[in-house]
This record gives sequence, structure tokens and C-alpha cells, in this order.
Amino acid sequence: MNLMQKISLSVKGTMPDYVKENKIELLVCNSGKQNCKEHLHVINKCYIDANSYHLEKDFLNSIESLKSAFLNTCNLQEASCLKCAELFRSTITKSLENINDELQRMTTGLISNKSYMTSYKESCAVLKDLKKAV
Ligand SMILES: [Zn+2]
Repeated sequence: MNLMQKISLSVKGTMPDYVKENKIELLVCNSGKQNCKEHLHVINKCYIDANSYHLEKDFLNSIESLKSAFLNTCNLQEASCLKCAELFRSTITKSLENINDELQRMTTGLISNKSYMTSYKESCAVLKDLKKAV
């Protein structure tokens, strides 16, 4: 089974519309362990929040939610799910890298928007922290 599936069965019932509309990929446990599922519910909630903030261009909250999602993956301590946790962390880090790239484009160049500077700096700082923790 693919670790990254479009829809996780455990959160299917409660999925907001924008998740379906924007095809946000949820994180899915490969081994289907109960321990993983419980944490995954929290991790996915943060991950979905991050994506919806991103869509609203609320970068600071998006970054904050990705950080929470990342920190929650550290609760996956069971041996069977260490690989899951690793994959989740790299997916979350990738999302943050995308935001970081986007903000860099928005804050540099001729049509730069300086109002996003705080968000850009925050995304750099959090990205640095996450990479250290991987
Ligand atoms: Zn797992």
C-alpha cells in the first residue's frame, strides 16, 4: 500500500470540503497500527490546517501548524511506525520548503511584497529547526 494516499480512511468522515476540492494529500500509516492512527489523526489535523491557512495566504499560521504536525510525529515511538514517522516528517518538511520558496519569490525581485517578510523569516527559522531535528 502506498504510504501517501489521497484519503485516509480514519479521517474520511470528518474531512472538510476544501481538502477534497484541493486534493490535499493526507498522511497514512503503512502498518495500520492503532497507535499510529491515533497520533496520525492529530498530525493530519495540523497538516490540513496548515494547507488551509496556506490557501488563505495566512503564512504564519500555516508555518505554525506545520511545526505542530512535525512535533506530533515525535510521539510515534513504536518500532513498527518509526518509518511512518520518518516519512511524515519529510513530507511536512517538504510542504514547509514549498512555502519557503513561495515566500522567497514574494519578498524578492521587482514586484516584491515586503509585508510577507515576517512570514518569510519565520519559514526560514522553522525550516532550519526541522532540518536539524530530522
Ligand atoms: Zn504507522
